Amino acid sequence: MAPGDPLTFADFKEIEITRLKDVGEKRQKSFAAVGIENVLDLLMYYPRRYIDRTNESSIADLVPGDEAMVLARVERVSSRKTKNRRTLTTVVVRDRTAQLTCTFFNQPWRERDLQPGIEAVFFGKVDIFRNAKQMTNPVVDLVGNETGVIVPVYPQSEKAGVVTREIRNAVKTALRRATEETERPDGTVALPRGIADPVPSRIRERYRLVGRSAALAGIHAPESMAQMIEARKRLVFDELLRVQLALVLRKRAIEQVSKGIEHKVHGDLVRRFHDSLAFPLTGAQQRAIAEIDADLARPVPMHRLLQGDVGSGKTLVAVNALLVAVQGGHQGALMAPTEVLAEQHHMSIRALVESLIVPDASTLLGERPVRVELLTNRTTQAERKRLATDLVSGAVDLVVGTHALIQDGVAFRSLAMVVIDEQHRFGVEQRAALRDKSAGDAVPDVLVMTATPIPRTAAMTVYGDLDVSVLDELPPGRTPVETQWARSDDDEGAVWQLVQTEVAAGRQAYVVCPLIDESETLEVRSAQETYDELAHGELASLRLGLLHGRMTSAEKEQTMRAFRVRELDVLVATTVIEVGVDVPNATVMVVLDAARFGIAQLHQLRGRVGRGSHISYCRLVGEANTPDGEARLEALVRSTDGFELAEIDLDLRGEGTIMGERQKGRNDLRLASLRRDRDWVERARAVAFELVDSDPGLAHHGAMRDELELLLGDDDTEFLLKS
Ligand code: ADP
Ligand code: MG
Repeated sequence: MAPGDPLTFADFKEIEITRLKDVGEKRQKSFAAVGIENVLDLLMYYPRRYIDRTNESSIADLVPGDEAMVLARVERVSSRKTKNRRTLTTVVVRDRTAQLTCTFFNQPWRERDLQPGIEAVFFGKVDIFRNAKQMTNPVVDLVGNETGVIVPVYPQSEKAGVVTREIRNAVKTALRRATEETERPDGTVALPRGIADPVPSRIRERYRLVGRSAALAGIHAPESMAQMIEARKRLVFDELLRVQLALVLRKRAIEQVSKGIEHKVHGDLVRRFHDSLAFPLTGAQQRAIAEIDADLARPVPMHRLLQGDVGSGKTLVAVNALLVAVQGGHQGALMAPTEVLAEQHHMSIRALVESLIVPDASTLLGERPVRVELLTNRTTQAERKRLATDLVSGAVDLVVGTHALIQDGVAFRSLAMVVIDEQHRFGVEQRAALRDKSAGDAVPDVLVMTATPIPRTAAMTVYGDLDVSVLDELPPGRTPVETQWARSDDDEGAVWQLVQTEVAAGRQAYVVCPLIDESETLEVRSAQETYDELAHGELASLRLGLLHGRMTSAEKEQTMRAFRVRELDVLVATTVIEVGVDVPNATVMVVLDAARFGIAQLHQLRGRVGRGSHISYCRLVGEANTPDGEARLEALVRSTDGFELAEIDLDLRGEGTIMGERQKGRNDLRLASLRRDRDWVERARAVAFELVDSDPGLAHHGAMRDELELLLGDDDTEFLLKS
């Protein structure tokens, strides 16, 4: 930065908060407690809400029983000790319409803070005491003597002792110093440097975005709600643009630095695979395969996300891609997040390719069946050794596994296609680790599958470095699973009746036991108990099987086989059956204590039925206990559309969970919501492509580039910007 240039975020970060004249040592401590150490932290500490005095509620209108928020002036304060030696502080406040009494127990500091004449915001439940309206222990926000029409209210921690008034004053000072003339101690005038705006003006104009300086003023000290909304829009765009730039830079960097394999996508093996299928591909599957094939045929490595609802047939699309690699004499790998999932993928992929033959000069006949192996932490040392040898020699075509696949000591002769089934569990780093297993200089193609859909804008943000294919069509003949929530014991009785009726009609059922997050041991025990109770109670006349994560693969396979060939009527299981289990004759899915599961998980579980031509049923059993739980179960009853459920899930849980681990440092979304601001996610993504494709290292967008490093700066971003 040159002295005199407009101030950038980097400059603001250099200015410690104590350089503001009204921040002394005590304030410094309380600011630090909410994460504000420099002026940048301060400017990015946005109000949590605003009070619009033009239509704020007035005390006269308060209705007892309601939660309310009023802005009022303190008239008098008094404290006394109660009989049981608690302090009772009574604060009488008034607005232009009426009086309100606020009482505080054991909060002696209120008497100091709430001096007569002070204005504050009071949030709390309104009740009537001796004929007067009052609030007991309301949350108080010292907004100070506010003259503006719109009063910002900051998130604050009362313990830390920061209040809105202090933050607002500090923000005002900071903005004034940056944007207004100031007088030096010697009486001369310092010209304002202004605030730099890293977003090119043509882009700001295109989307009618206010400048950064106006945005910061408008978010902290708006003169109208309209102004605040404009300010927010601009700052939301900035946040989303930074995330998208990082993702698009990554995407382009991978494409540029690495050489891919130019696969021949049409060939004998793939053709025979298609011929072996008992059904035609859905239109969506054909589209996804065509998109993937186009990527595979290019000399650039593929990085594609395959999204699709439960049962949309993702496995087949993935196997098609794996076989393209095998057909060219290469190998493929599929990585799953858990052992159980890996085992299930292994079984289903084996079943899909078992009849296929590949050439092999080292064999007597010059050909052999496609060989699919499993590698997890349970694989014995001896097997592991053998597998390692066969992977290096090329005797194994496909390997399915867990993290074990990316451990040292696993090497391939020619790994060309990697499928990652993720459920939001793997990070970018692990994807990269598997990609690095390539022999030679060509990088394998990567296809990421999500087990359940995530909303489009979330996909753009979480998987923004990937291209996306969507399976938006289910195979024909599926009828939506009829879903009910069995809340009461009577309802539960009807559930077991339904299981009996369906079994009598020749169908089969699953019973999923309560999820116990804390411990697999407890979960297994509870599954065993459920099994015992049902076997001696409601389902005593039926043939029951038990499946859980502590069984050996052989035991699991044995039980699954028995269920598949209808030696069992009912399978009692933990969530091990969540993904991959495929028995079209099963028509009832009972989930016990369903409110313990998330939306995506319940939708996955429900996806285990409705796979054949019979009408299927899902019964969610048990009380909800929380409003969120209730909302989740109601959503499941209302909708069978995974994409719609994903939107609801995002609504209920917020972005935090989706961004989670994966985005760690990269998540600086403070104002932006992937849901509310979804249009802006799309615009920011388009702009990111525009900027990166016209200026790959952002050399001509130095300010933007510096800001990315400053705010998202991990080693990764640095790598991207340098390469
Ligand atoms: P997903 O992994 O997307 O949940 P799967 O790949 O497990 O779905 O497929 C679900 C079921 O649908 C499997 O039984 C599979 O054999 C079957 N299936 C896949 N594609 C088709 C199709 N085009 N027509 C009929 N059935 C299909
Ligand atoms: Mg599947």
